[in-house]
Amino acid sequence: DEKPLDAFLASTAEQFPKKKALHFMGKEWTFADVYSQARKMAAHFQLLGLKKGDRVAVMLPNCPQAVISYYGALLAGAVVVQTNPLYKERELEYQLNDSGATFIVCLDILLPRVTHVRGNTPLKHTIVTGIKDYLPFPKNLVYPFIQKKEYNMVVKVEPSEDIHIWQTIMETGHEHYTPVDMDPKNDLALLQYTGGTTGNPKGVMLTHYNLVANVQMCRKWLYKAEPGKETVLGVLPFFHVYGMTAVMNMSIMYGYKMILLPKFDPEEVLKTIQKQKPTMFPGAPTIYVGLLNHPNLKKYDLSSIEACISGSAPLPVEVQEQFEKVTDGHLVEGYGLTESSPVTHANFIWGKRVNGSIGVPWPDTDSKIIMENGEEAPVGEIGEVAVSGPQVMKGYWNNQEETDNVLKDGWLFTGDVGYMDESGYFYIVDRKKDMIIAGGYNIYPREVEEVLYEHEAIQEVAVAGVPDPYRGETVKAYVALKAGHQIDEKQLNAFCRSNLAAFKVPRIYEFRDELPKTAVGKILRRQLVAEEKAQQT
Ligand code: ATP
Repeated sequence: DEKPLDAFLASTAEQFPKKKALHFMGKEWTFADVYSQARKMAAHFQLLGLKKGDRVAVMLPNCPQAVISYYGALLAGAVVVQTNPLYKERELEYQLNDSGATFIVCLDILLPRVTHVRGNTPLKHTIVTGIKDYLPFPKNLVYPFIQKKEYNMVVKVEPSEDIHIWQTIMETGHEHYTPVDMDPKNDLALLQYTGGTTGNPKGVMLTHYNLVANVQMCRKWLYKAEPGKETVLGVLPFFHVYGMTAVMNMSIMYGYKMILLPKFDPEEVLKTIQKQKPTMFPGAPTIYVGLLNHPNLKKYDLSSIEACISGSAPLPVEVQEQFEKVTDGHLVEGYGLTESSPVTHANFIWGKRVNGSIGVPWPDTDSKIIMENGEEAPVGEIGEVAVSGPQVMKGYWNNQEETDNVLKDGWLFTGDVGYMDESGYFYIVDRKKDMIIAGGYNIYPREVEEVLYEHEAIQEVAVAGVPDPYRGETVKAYVALKAGHQIDEKQLNAFCRSNLAAFKVPRIYEFRDELPKTAVGKILRRQLVAEEKAQQT
């Protein structure tokens, strides 16, 4: 469909004006409310001088304002720059400068960070929304954006020429924005920054067409879901491309009700499922693992859940099976990356599913495996996964060199190593850049992690290559144990030795209470390696 993404909010609001679009902490918004408030935001942006193509940073956790400002910016013709609310000054400053954002929407508790950097950036206007006034965030869900003890110290923000108060815009603003002529195939809707675990974060340019196409593919794949009838649990952050597409844009385009949670708190998620009865629950492996390991899991009724897709990292088969048992729904694995809006492959929810595989390419998406010599790999042979389709990005913002490294002849080279079986199902082996070379052997950390995950005492594990004077690199496992379990290095070593060739067995183990994770719950292997390197120097 060649309509801009925001046009779908208008048509959904027309089709289902009275249907509930958002649920946040006991309050609800209809599609008509969301559309009306997004128009007010659009009108206000334009009043402040916003022109087509200007960048608007949205620095919010999941809450109604996140949806409203995102769509408000799009209606006004802007490019949204999603900004992680956990960013510290250094990261925020980099992103504002790189994107050239002149507007930002943020929570009042984040304002000190914005104020600290704004003089070094092109930022002109800040729109502030309060954690206490407009929509009270419960204290337990404000953390980690601020510490709980800081909640009572939040001060009321005073408006000025460049600081604008959300509530005032909503109470006194009007909806008459000037519609902007958009070319959905070429005009950007979004600059979505990659995690930047290697070098500086890159702004992925996604057009309206890219984003709309990915949601429409999702819709085809979820063909049993009924427009206007489903309820989606929104615990994946919308400032990340996965939650944005699979929860926010999907719900806006097809009239699903979104239940918004600003952070992943297992007990809160369990309670919310029981009470709000979502039918769909997109997530990531660590989210499902966190719920399955919750001591009160059995107390809750999770039977409303019908369809879940797990992305962002490999889904252990055991987790999948257990989660399906407790919900009586379907949980399948999908795959994608920021550069492709993000989804490119998924297993079938209602069809032939192959556990351990990422499934098949989505409708209108092609995928192939490329070997070192640049040729397409035969069935079963390992190589780099490449994808092409309408969801693939235009390129990296102001970075032609990096764009040329990954976009070749219409194909996006994903940086992931994988293979395809004889039935056309794809498998991810690991990331190209995470492969460990120890004593001349190639080792894929994921294989070692999978073995360790089979051990009953292990809750989380990350395997990485760390510098070693003899082997160049050596294999190290970072382990977090399940509550009430104990195990030592010797026992883990024996377990690995009986399941892996000797060269793959970790030589070093480090026990931690918890492993560092990204906003979508992906374990940060490369951060662990960076910490290791920093310690050694
Ligand atoms: P950065 O590029 O900055 O390091 P990132 O790669 O984590 O960040 P994303 O675009 O969020 O950025 O993640 C995409 C990557 O996530 C994929 O390239 C792949 O390595 C991994 N991934 C996603 N889904 C799966 C899956 N089902 N199985 C294995 N890996 C997955």
